[in-house]
Amino acid sequence: MHILVSACLLGDNCKYSGGNNLVEGMAERLQAAGITIVKVCPECMGGLPTPRVPAERLGDRVVNKIGEDVTAQFMRGAKMALEAAQAQGCTAAILKKNSPSCGCGAIYDGTFSGTLTAGDGVTAQLLQEHGLPIYNEESYEQLAGR
Ligand code: SF4
Repeated sequence: MHILVSACLLGDNCKYSGGNNLVEGMAERLQAAGITIVKVCPECMGGLPTPRVPAERLGDRVVNKIGEDVTAQFMRGAKMALEAAQAQGCTAAILKKNSPSCGCGAIYDGTFSGTLTAGDGVTAQLLQEHGLPIYNEESYEQLAGR
């Protein structure tokens, strides 16, 4: 089984700040369950630098904290993540919570105040539209336990 995974959860320093969101033991747990990890960072794949100015969704657009519209880069990264998932035959994705790309079910509300609202990141939305179930760093063990 192949699973798409947010690169920052695996320790890649691809977060906007230049850091990561490593979940200790995740990669080992997935591999022990026979899962092949397909690692993606949609924001990097879309052409954004690291570190980068943080961005949040504003309706159908994505705008960064200094007012630049980065929707095109987010859309490009989402399409590339979907292509990677399809090319590798991924059957699910484990994506970082709350991110404007990877968040699923809750994302920051566009005010850069740390406030969450209902919604999906651009990549999570596209993957779901193509039938991929989405897990996150808290729920992924359901998948590893299958
Ligand atoms: Fe992590 Fe996704 Fe943000 Fe990349 S786009 S740093 S994988 S949450």
